[in-house]
Amino acid sequence: PVSIVWFRQDLRVIDNPALFAAVEHGTIVPVYIFDSEIAEEEQPGGASNWWLHHSLESLNKRLNGHLQCFSGDPQTILCDLVSKFSANAVFWNRCYEPTVIERDKKIKQALRDSGCLVSSFNGSLLWEPMSIRKQDGGVYRVFTPYYRKGCLQASAPRYPSPAPTRITYADVSREGHTIQDAGLLPDIDWDSAFYDHWKPGEEGAADKLSDFIRHAARGYQEERNIPSVRGTSRLSPHLHFGEISPNQAWYALLNAFDDQGNSDLDCFLSELGWREFSYYLLFHFPTITEQNFNYQFDKFKWLNRQDDFIAWSKGQTGIPIVDAGMRELWQTGYMHNRVRMIVGSFLVKNLLIDWRKGERWFWDCLVDADRASNAASWQWVAGSGADAAPYFRIFNPVLQGEKFDKQGAYVKTYCPELKHIPDKYLHKPWEAPKEVLNKAGITLGKDYPKPIADLKQTRQRALDAYADTKEN
Ligand code: FAD
Repeated sequence: PVSIVWFRQDLRVIDNPALFAAVEHGTIVPVYIFDSEIAEEEQPGGASNWWLHHSLESLNKRLNGHLQCFSGDPQTILCDLVSKFSANAVFWNRCYEPTVIERDKKIKQALRDSGCLVSSFNGSLLWEPMSIRKQDGGVYRVFTPYYRKGCLQASAPRYPSPAPTRITYADVSREGHTIQDAGLLPDIDWDSAFYDHWKPGEEGAADKLSDFIRHAARGYQEERNIPSVRGTSRLSPHLHFGEISPNQAWYALLNAFDDQGNSDLDCFLSELGWREFSYYLLFHFPTITEQNFNYQFDKFKWLNRQDDFIAWSKGQTGIPIVDAGMRELWQTGYMHNRVRMIVGSFLVKNLLIDWRKGERWFWDCLVDADRASNAASWQWVAGSGADAAPYFRIFNPVLQGEKFDKQGAYVKTYCPELKHIPDKYLHKPWEAPKEVLNKAGITLGKDYPKPIADLKQTRQRALDAYADTKEN
């Protein structure tokens, strides 16, 4: 019997439950569909498309060139393919975005109505959101009890499976179009540095995981906060596209640490837990991508000044750590987590710009842009989310820079114009005496911007704006 394997956010061969089941069933036709029906705001951004292009090429190689690509309405395409290829089954791994769940339900029904067997699997989460409930049946809103009680105490994550030993491909005609035809790569060359940082695909994901285990897993808890060092795994885009499953990462780390209960290990596993929590929130509170989780923030009076937003997005705010982060994002498609929190806080609190605008910019620029993690993290930063940072805890980007980028290695990488400024002033060049700036070859407002916001005043302004939402 012939079956169709519909690849989605599971662009891998190892530990892929849908592929595994299809291979057991018989010969397969592997398929990827660019969904033209999906809402505009859910269409992948530029950086994600770059990744997707290369990831599909890599998957196609893994499948010996058998991957068939299509664009259009997935339901129509799948129903056509089932009859064209005389397939009697369709297999896929589940996704958790609310609109995708709705879409998949309809497709499942339509295929079943046509007499086809349809099976879906969990291929991208350690614990699926529908299986985790509080003892009273309610939904968790706070991370620690969710993770410790709801997840860890409930069950161990599924152990990953190897790649199928032998895949037999159905002898069918080539339909659809090539990956190239999808036009995912940019017309203008903004992606040249991406190639230095990333190797999309299953092999690249495995390399990142083994590099991390070899060089950074021990010491993770401390080093994960230092943006100038490779202290984290950089697995996020690989996890997002499913080039590696969280189960593979989870058990690889457990195996690498023979001392269970090690704090570096626990810290890394709990970060994977935050990814799970983001999906859990998205599943149970589908509006978190657009609406404040905490409705009190609906009354928040954002300023939303366009020139401030442009300065922020271009890395031209005059606050070095913020600019370095925004430039890292633009150049590499990635930003260190600590810096994501700093730039987010600066946008939402110091500039009083709605978190949704930041979320959109990240969506377009991040190679790991993810509906669940991006929205949940932005709401966390804004203070409007579930289990969020309290609003009044406003990051001071100067102190953050001085603490986490002491020698300024990170700032100097992305803001090279500041490289001759002495450490003492690197994170606050506006406080440097003129002769220091002259010696460093910097005129503020010419070679590097003057700060667009007074940190002290805007901090107070943010606190006042927050107080207003409580009073009215
Ligand atoms: P590691 O430290 O090695 O962590 C391992 C894995 O755990 C990551 O790959 C990721 O899958 C997961 N993880 C780590 N931290 C978080 C977190 N806070 N929330 C959810 N999952 C986490 N992450 C995304 O994957 N996609 C996004 O679109 C995204 N947007 C963000 C927006 C903001 C404003 C902030 C503050 C954070 C965002 N994050 C997002 C979370 C986090 O910054 C990245 O997952 C992390 O920096 C990825 O680097 P890494 O793989 O080296 O992480």
